[in-house]
Amino acid sequence: MPEITQTMLEDALAYGRAFTSQGKTAQYIPYLRQVDRDLLGVSVQTVDGRRFSAGDSKTPFTVQSIAKVVALALALQDRGEKNLFSGRVGLEPTGDPFNSIIRLEVDRKPYNPFINAGAIAVVGAIKGRSGSEKFERLLRYFKKLCGSETVSLCGEAYLSERETGDKNRALAYHLKATKMLEGDVGEDLDVYFRMCSLYVTAEDIAHLALVLANRGLDPATGERLMAAEHARIIRTLMLTCGMYDGSGEFAVKVGYPAKSGVGGGIAATLVDRMGIGVFGPALDVRGNSVAGIAILEYLSKAMDVRLF
Ligand code: GLN
Repeated sequence: MPEITQTMLEDALAYGRAFTSQGKTAQYIPYLRQVDRDLLGVSVQTVDGRRFSAGDSKTPFTVQSIAKVVALALALQDRGEKNLFSGRVGLEPTGDPFNSIIRLEVDRKPYNPFINAGAIAVVGAIKGRSGSEKFERLLRYFKKLCGSETVSLCGEAYLSERETGDKNRALAYHLKATKMLEGDVGEDLDVYFRMCSLYVTAEDIAHLALVLANRGLDPATGERLMAAEHARIIRTLMLTCGMYDGSGEFAVKVGYPAKSGVGGGIAATLVDRMGIGVFGPALDVRGNSVAGIAILEYLSKAMDVRLF
C-alpha cells in the first residue's frame, strides 16, 4: 500500500479544486450561504504521529453534522450501547435526506444517530442537569477529541441556525409527542443548534478522525478518549450513514468511513492508519462537500485503501 506523502496530499488538493465550482454553499442557513465556496483544505494525521496539511487547513468553518459523531460518543459513554440503541435511536440507514421527518410517524425511533432526528434524540440522552451543562460537557469533550483548545462557538452561525431551525424543531417536538424525548425539548434543541455551530478546522476534524481510527486512543497524548467498542460502532455507522443519502455511493467510490457536515467538512477514518479532515464548502444536492469527496476519492485510490 503506497504511503501518504505531502506531495500526494497536494496533488489531491489540486485535483479537488476542479470540483468546487460544481457545488453551492448550503443555502438554507443564511450564515453558510455567504461562505466563500472556493475555500479548500485537507489535513492528515497518522497513528504513528505524522501530520500533513494542504490548502485552507487552518480556516475555521462550522462543524455542523460532524458534531453528531461527538454527541454519539458522549451519549454512548453516558448511557451505554444497550440503552442508547434499544430505546432511543436505531442503527439503520434511511436513504432519506438528513432532515427528513417521514419515517418518524411510522417508526417512533429515529433510524440512526446521524440523521437530524436521531442526533436530537442522542442529545436528549447526554447527561446534564440543564442544556448548558450538557453543552459544556460536549464542548470539553469536543476539544479533547479534536486535540485543540480553539474549538468554540460561532455566534453568528448559531443565531442563523436557530432562526431557520423550524424543521429541526418539528423533529424534536415530534420526538417529544411520541415520548422519544423526555427532557426539556427547547434546551435539547439549543444544544443541537450550538453543537452544529462550533468552529473547527480541517486539522481539528482530522484529529477527531484519528482518534476513531486509533480505536479510541489519542496517539498524541496516550489518553483513552472512548472505548474501543464505541469507536468501532461509530466507524461502522459512519460507513453506512455518515454521508446521509449519499452513503452508498460514497462507500463504492471512496470506500472508508466518513462523516460530513453542511459546513463543508468531512472527517474520514482509516482504521489503524490515519484520520483525514477535509473542508470545502461547495456542496452537492445531498449536502456533502463536492471537492471534499473528490479529494477523499483521490486519496483512497492513491493509497489503495478502499475497504472492499
Ligand atoms: N445544522 C444543520 C441542520 O440541522 C446540520 C445538518 C448537516 O450538517 N447535515 O440542518
